Amino acid sequence: MVHLSNHHCHTLFSDGKTSPESFVKKALEENLVSLGFSDHAPIPNPGLTGMKAEALPDYQQVIARLRDTARDHLQIYKGLEVDYIPGVISVNSTHIVNANPDFTIGAVHYVDQFDDGTYWNFESGFRQFQRGVDEIFNGDIVVAVKRYYTLIREMVNDHRPDVVAHLDRIKKLNRRDRYFNENEKWYREEVIETLQAIARNKCILEVNTKGYYSGDSDDTYPSKWILEIANQLEIPVHLASDAHHPDHLRSGFDFGLKQLKAIGYKNTFVMLDHCWQDSNLIENRIYIF
Ligand SMILES: [Zn+2]
Ligand SMILES: [Zn+2]
Repeated sequence: MVHLSNHHCHTLFSDGKTSPESFVKKALEENLVSLGFSDHAPIPNPGLTGMKAEALPDYQQVIARLRDTARDHLQIYKGLEVDYIPGVISVNSTHIVNANPDFTIGAVHYVDQFDDGTYWNFESGFRQFQRGVDEIFNGDIVVAVKRYYTLIREMVNDHRPDVVAHLDRIKKLNRRDRYFNENEKWYREEVIETLQAIARNKCILEVNTKGYYSGDSDDTYPSKWILEIANQLEIPVHLASDAHHPDHLRSGFDFGLKQLKAIGYKNTFVMLDHCWQDSNLIENRIYIF
């Protein structure tokens, strides 16, 4: 039996569209067994978006209240999606540790800076993406992509989150191999080295369906071939939709589950009773960190 759960959603506390209450209502309708909020943690840099620092105590209180109210029907967890930006933020930053999240999702959304101090990201369209490759990485997409994966490995090795978000999100603008081909040796080696770091540090790998249901990709983050290697390395996975609206709480899950089963994954991990657990419960195996 698959216990569906989603530990990646965003509310009005960061860039989500609706209140935490609306997510709880939808999770109850959808019979989820547990729900984890993962709003973007405050980033101590004025140019970068995330939750406002002063909203963090409120976020904690609202989730605690919802957890109590829904207690008999749904387990609710307080998570944070925490950027890794060297020298700026990681899961070990004081404000993150003090917030005492039930779980952390580690993500690299920002890769190095332009001369004016703004960060390169994958959200601002092709022109800005190309400008980053040209100005920060001397026009070399291979160097740019390698830098992205290096940052993920740094995060996993030195600032370990519970879950690694959307591993290959750098492919967001790479449809039809616009910038690189995932079959190229250098790319595969970079990804495999990163998976090995994830396995060594016993992180959970997120299988994120947002690119699939929003039309940015025909596949999950990460791609199927990456999940095949993750399975060989016995890396546990968690299926998540990165919902910014309650209507997307389970979006892409049918595709994601089908994909995982085809690869040979026997289970996904969900947080239940404050532990990440095997969701099909056949072996009742609990993943201990
Ligand atoms: Zn993210
Ligand atoms: Zn997210």
